[in-house]
Amino acid sequence: MSDARTARADTIRGLSIPQEMLPGDGRFGSGPSRIRDAQMEALSSVSRTVMGTSHRQAPVKQYVGRIRAGLRELFSLPEGYEVVLGNGGSTAFWGVAACGLVEQRAQNLVLGEFSQKFAAELTAAPHLREPEVVAATPGALPVPVARDDVDAYAWPHNETSTGVMVPVQRPEGARPDQLVLVDATSAAGGAMVDITQTDAYYFAPQKAFASDGGLWLSILSPAAIERAERLAADTSRWIPSFLSLTSAIDNSRKDQTLNTPAVATLVLMAEQIEWMLEQGGLTWADSRTRTTSGMLQDWAARRDEITPFVTDPGARSQVVTTLDVDDEIDATALTTVLRQHGVVDVEPYRKLGRNQLRIATFPAVGEEDVAALIAVLDHLLDQSA
Ligand SMILES: *Cc1c(COP(=O)(O)O)cnc(C)c1O
Repeated sequence: MSDARTARADTIRGLSIPQEMLPGDGRFGSGPSRIRDAQMEALSSVSRTVMGTSHRQAPVKQYVGRIRAGLRELFSLPEGYEVVLGNGGSTAFWGVAACGLVEQRAQNLVLGEFSQKFAAELTAAPHLREPEVVAATPGALPVPVARDDVDAYAWPHNETSTGVMVPVQRPEGARPDQLVLVDATSAAGGAMVDITQTDAYYFAPQKAFASDGGLWLSILSPAAIERAERLAADTSRWIPSFLSLTSAIDNSRKDQTLNTPAVATLVLMAEQIEWMLEQGGLTWADSRTRTTSGMLQDWAARRDEITPFVTDPGARSQVVTTLDVDDEIDATALTTVLRQHGVVDVEPYRKLGRNQLRIATFPAVGEEDVAALIAVLDHLLDQSA
């Protein structure tokens, strides 16, 4: 570290941010993400009637029903598509897909930590062939290629660790019996999507849906449901009941989960989906996140010290913005002083190991808070120059 860098880092750490400059809500994390106050109030209003009651009875099942109906509307589901859910988050769904959706071999786009983890899960599965990996360096965008010998294509809609968005489009030349599995954990609800381009569009509640973690949700096409049923009928394949997609489908149709869900997560999620629908649905959410992420990109363009990590403007995420900070400025000093002032979780993805800020602009994050965050960052950079 240069002397100048160390000195500037000390200056930044010693700065204070005027109270009136701070965003109304300081949570800019990429997941868990900010939960709106109204959601917490809704949760507290059912503290005696839903919380702490049976998930096999109407009060809790109604929330599952509201989530399923709300997602059906939000994503304008075509005939035959179903909203399925289970416990364990998106990570559990990787296991579900390894057991019950990938027949023999998948093609995985690997462009960061999360896409890498799914590829690793499929590689380790003893009943599957090694996936074909199409890799890109972090920050870049790989493209799926139609292949004869794969039965599924897998990629993230948004690679949360790098802030790269991948188009959701069936690979040109792909056969209808080849499934498209899209990890939409951080994109779903924050970016437009044409669900007909996917067979499993799966996600978790703690990102754009502003809820707590612990669940996976997956929008399944008729082809995916058919595949799941066929693989479940194959007695040579061991499928742990917790990872059984057919059992999740059966339970979801009854508005329940295989085992006990986190009820608070269901309440928060139902509230957020309905709020998003009231605001104007996915069109509204898509436009809001384009605006707020655009504000951050514009800021980067006018600051010499800040450079977008994703060099291709077309690949930049509208929900997770990754901005490299000039080497002469220690980004950790910035995130430390921000954290002391209640502005949290703008650190880069830990394993990416860059001198970077990572700022999520999910639908719950309004323009005024992003404007305030930018003003605060300007203050820290200018005052320490
Ligand atoms: C957060 C995230 C996951 C992991 O989600 P969990 O619910 O914690 O398992 C997977 N994929 C992507 C793209 C993510 O952003």
